[in-house]
Amino acid sequence: LWDQCVRQLKGELTSAEFNTWILPLQARVHGTQLRLLAPNRFVLDWAQKHYEKRLLDLCAQYSDGAIAQVRFDVGEFDRDSGETTAQGVEVGESATDLQERRAAAHLNVDFTFDTFVEGKSNQLARAASMQIAQNPGTAYNPLFIYGGVGLGKTHLMHAVGNIILASNPSARVVYLHSERFVAEMIKALQHNRIEEFKKRYRSVNALLIDDVQFFAGKERSQEEFFHTFNALFESRQQIVLSSDRFPKEVVGLEERLRSRFGWGLTVSIDPPDLETSVAILHCKASQLGVELPEDVAFFVGRRIRSNIRELEGALRRLVANAEFTGKPITMEFAKHALRDVLAAQDKQVTIENIQKTVAEYFKLRTSDMLSAKRSRSLARPRQIAMALAKELTKHSLPEIGKAFGGRDHTTVLHATRKVKSLRESDAGVEEDYKNLLRTLSS
Ligand code: ADP
Ligand code: MG
Repeated sequence: LWDQCVRQLKGELTSAEFNTWILPLQARVHGTQLRLLAPNRFVLDWAQKHYEKRLLDLCAQYSDGAIAQVRFDVGEFDRDSGETTAQGVEVGESATDLQERRAAAHLNVDFTFDTFVEGKSNQLARAASMQIAQNPGTAYNPLFIYGGVGLGKTHLMHAVGNIILASNPSARVVYLHSERFVAEMIKALQHNRIEEFKKRYRSVNALLIDDVQFFAGKERSQEEFFHTFNALFESRQQIVLSSDRFPKEVVGLEERLRSRFGWGLTVSIDPPDLETSVAILHCKASQLGVELPEDVAFFVGRRIRSNIRELEGALRRLVANAEFTGKPITMEFAKHALRDVLAAQDKQVTIENIQKTVAEYFKLRTSDMLSAKRSRSLARPRQIAMALAKELTKHSLPEIGKAFGGRDHTTVLHATRKVKSLRESDAGVEEDYKNLLRTLSS
């Protein structure tokens, strides 16, 4: 019976969901009851909340109504005797223990895979994170997540930590912003506690270090982190890193660290497409307990393109305004409540905007500038536009490359270097660049 349920659910769920929540369950039939044992409280809560109803339906169907109840507990069946060793939740970890370990790990319980909306822009990063969470230390090491600000890097790292922590009651997990790593190291040095510091971070099962670009220029911290990295890597403990750019592009970082950061798997998170933005808005709205009309969701999603944090900020403002005035959230209402936010958005320079401005300035067609043609009259403006995109937007080199007719990030890197040296050696180029900068930032 259970095998039938499992087979059915395998078809209905994503493989990540299936592997995380269904596979760890053990099942036995007792009379009219299907008893399920979960390895820990976390899996129990989740599986019960999301799959109990479906399981009950399936059981009723496969047993012709003989099974009328599904019961969840934490524990394990004793293999030989067929007796169960489960005793309510006592056998597993208590919810308070989990809470304490979560706090010690600096993990935010709200950042989970459950609350992370999947879209094309984050699909790979999400899948890789899920793999890590399920096979810490063995899937990819390190996992390096990069992307612009407010796109979900921190959220994903916490989601990974939360799963590792909850699926293994003895796992030691630490999430730390790289600035905090630096601060703690300095404190340890001041108080002669550097040995303690070293031991603390070299003995974890999963170390999640956020925004490693903040290590730039901090040589002592890099040295210390280098050794921590090696110790964890050699003992096959999971390392997850994030940054606002590709590992090789993090300036001010020692070469040996940069190259190590690329040893495992490097995945990007891109700005969300419209549909994903809208899905995220709906998800956050339901967390706030409000329903967002479809036209408003599309309006906000279309107008706020910069990042998800801003999207969320706009939604909060809408909801707060609606509560305060007691008015329903309509298009009219949204336009009015968000007018400042939208005005600020409109001032932001986009890559498209840069391309258009540069093409006009050099009297070219944008499509020619983005084409594969290599003539000098196109190549130079193209390089200038790329350099401007790097300077004026928060997009990464691969994103800029993609926006310029699908070019490689090394092409963009080359363009920015070329333009930099031209500006120093060629007064004409310098003047063009300055003019364009002025036009774009006015
Ligand atoms: P980053 O670390 O990349 O700057 P964060 O992880 O802090 O970004 O994300 C900013 C906000 O956007 C957070 O509140 C986060 O929950 C939310 N967020 C980002 N991506 C998603 C997503 N795919 N689904 C739901 N919320 C998201
Ligand atoms: Mg972050």
